[in-house]
Amino acid sequence: MKILVPVKRVVDYNVKIRVKADGTGVETASVKFSMNPFDEIAVEEAVRLKEAGKATEVVVVSLGPSAAQETLRTALAMGADRAILVQTDAEVQPLAVAKVLKALVDKEQPRIVLLGKQAIDDDCNQTGQMLAALLGWPQGTFASKVAVGDDALTVTREIDGGLETIELTLPAVVTADLRLNEPRYASLPNIMKAKKKPFETLTPGSLGVDVTPRLTTLKVVEPPRRKAGVKVADVAALVDKLKNDARVI
Ligand code: AMP
Repeated sequence: MKILVPVKRVVDYNVKIRVKADGTGVETASVKFSMNPFDEIAVEEAVRLKEAGKATEVVVVSLGPSAAQETLRTALAMGADRAILVQTDAEVQPLAVAKVLKALVDKEQPRIVLLGKQAIDDDCNQTGQMLAALLGWPQGTFASKVAVGDDALTVTREIDGGLETIELTLPAVVTADLRLNEPRYASLPNIMKAKKKPFETLTPGSLGVDVTPRLTTLKVVEPPRRKAGVKVADVAALVDKLKNDARVI
């Protein structure tokens, strides 16, 4: 069974985001980029399924600039077998990503597409759902546990009230939540080995997909600054403030 894992290159989660002075987006110059954290979890899960003998091949794919090669190499170093970069310098939005993935699914015929639940740059949480709709496949989103059978997949989902367990017939789309696993670090020997793994570069055009953005960003602004706090002398003063100023007790 082949598993396709889409991975996005995003601004690293440790970077303090700065909004561009003209309000058109966030500063990306001289900023560290890395693999979207939920996609690391998706890669880890696919590699574990391969190690458990449930999957035969893990193919990672990214839609983005040539620098997304690094992200794909990281996924190969974690244990993926093969990488595909669909190269574009255009801004890519979830619908465009889903269409490119649909074209790749038609070409590669995986039984599972395992995505992150959300990219931490746009926070859209849309791509997996759109892909499932375009393919007409069942979807298990926000997965915290995945068990693969011959023709079906059991997915435990994190929902507001607790956990929900669903069974999906394969082929299916799954999106990884935070508690699915703890991704491994790529070891130096595996980073070296990853350099020799198969790496294909395509373009959206070669897949017959138009990735032109459909949404326009009107303005990006920083959240309002929090007001400075005050120090109180003792517990009595704190209780008094909570009661009379904040009116929360
Ligand atoms: P989003 O819908 O943008 O929050 O993204 C959800 C998931 O879709 C991510 O965690 C990735 O697995 C996948 N994805 C989104 N954008 C890309 C991209 N440009 N290349 C590859 N995968 C992507």
